[in-house]
Amino acid sequence: MTAREATTEATGSRKPARYGDTGEVERPLGRSIMRGLRCRCPACGEGRLFRAFLKPVDTCANCGADMHHHRSDDLPPYLVIVVIGHVALGGFMMTDMVWDMSPWAHLAIWAPLTVISALLTIQPIKGGVIGLQWALKMHGFGEEREDFDPGRGGPVE
Ligand SMILES: [Zn+2]
Repeated sequence: MTAREATTEATGSRKPARYGDTGEVERPLGRSIMRGLRCRCPACGEGRLFRAFLKPVDTCANCGADMHHHRSDDLPPYLVIVVIGHVALGGFMMTDMVWDMSPWAHLAIWAPLTVISALLTIQPIKGGVIGLQWALKMHGFGEEREDFDPGRGGPVE
């Protein structure tokens, strides 16, 4: 008899026993990222995710989910560069093929357009990254103890 069968038999429940089960909400990856992209809490989809331009809230005002665990670090800027870089470069090359414009005219169009698009997309992309980390239970989003280092089997130094 396995431990799971023993637990099920003891409780008389057909529901599979999970150790450390706290009735946690499901974390579908796509939904969490989409909620983050809308700058909403990935857990409830209602509370605001940011208290300032790029500063996320510590806890969701609607459902109380902790958001201070996130470590999106450099990933949002990298993603912005990949996305906006392709759009701006494609736009530049297409307009250059269609119209005969001087390099200064291109610079006057594409430099401000690139800066504005980057500023408009960095917040939702950062929200999406936080949603991804929340869904994958990265960096303490999975309720594990932050002061415990599993590699050392002891407290974090
Ligand atoms: Zn929430």
